[in-house]
Amino acid sequence: MRPNRRLWTSGLVLIGFAFFQAPGTAAEQPAPCPPDALGVSRTLRLGTQGGWQAGLKTYPRSLALDDHEIVLTFDDGPHSPTTAKVLDALRKECVKATFFLVGHNAQALPDLVKREVAEGHTLGHHTFSHPDATLRRLSEKAAEAEITKGIEADEKAAYGQAAYSEAGAAPKTPFFRFPGFADTPALVAWLSARNIAVFGADFWASDWAHMTPEAQLNLVLTRLEKEGRGILLFHDTKQQTADMLPALLREMKQRGFKIVHIAPGSDPPPMRAAPEGWTSETEKIIAEVFAKQAGASKADADQRRPNQTPQADPSASGAPMGAPR
Ligand SMILES: [Zn+2]
Repeated sequence: MRPNRRLWTSGLVLIGFAFFQAPGTAAEQPAPCPPDALGVSRTLRLGTQGGWQAGLKTYPRSLALDDHEIVLTFDDGPHSPTTAKVLDALRKECVKATFFLVGHNAQALPDLVKREVAEGHTLGHHTFSHPDATLRRLSEKAAEAEITKGIEADEKAAYGQAAYSEAGAAPKTPFFRFPGFADTPALVAWLSARNIAVFGADFWASDWAHMTPEAQLNLVLTRLEKEGRGILLFHDTKQQTADMLPALLREMKQRGFKIVHIAPGSDPPPMRAAPEGWTSETEKIIAEVFAKQAGASKADADQRRPNQTPQADPSASGAPMGAPR
């Protein structure tokens, strides 16, 4: 009697799957890169002399990447337990990413920041406290202090001491991303005078909106196919992102996407200009968020007794769904 081949095949697939999924000590002992790992196809070293801004959601230019080349970026961390899970997934595929740290979180979880450095990732900066109001709604002095304090906290967590200082020393990694992409011309000029580059994003996972890991995976895959290349924004603070990342990286390998690792360098990077008719998507979103906050503040104020002190922070309700943070 012939064996049931289909049953055999399914059994083997199941055994293979169980083996693949088996919990092991991979997190403790770095394994050599498997030959079919996604890996890093090239490292782009970026000089930041005089400053520049890249990322088509906010700026009319981005890094000149080839078709199917992707730069992975993760914002707002470190965070437990999601950042460790993200790092495990990246390590398994020998992929390097850039983490835009919130200084307050780096201060609280320095071991995770040190792990990011030890595993070869790049550390960018994303303010000290990620103010809900965004830097655009702070005074220029308060916004500059947020940036400086953030870089100092990130560097102290990563290296034990801050290389950066207000006295003029450059940050070790002169990469910065504005919370909610809410920049101002004055702050961009201030950063440029310090040779700090500003990163926007070319596309994003929208992982600030809650969804299942499966929905998150499908959304990112759809956007990867549509955009074809670019700087992709995730949040390593999100469980759904940490959960779907192993499957995403596998699928990127299957579909022929390549990971470009960015790191500080000396030469200005090759840029590509935005297509004709470009407009800033983040400006529209910021305008909507501010309008909503103004509406909420007004409704809130109308409900208060006339002599009650209004809240200092008009954005206390936080960013609504649909807006990046
Ligand atoms: Zn953020």
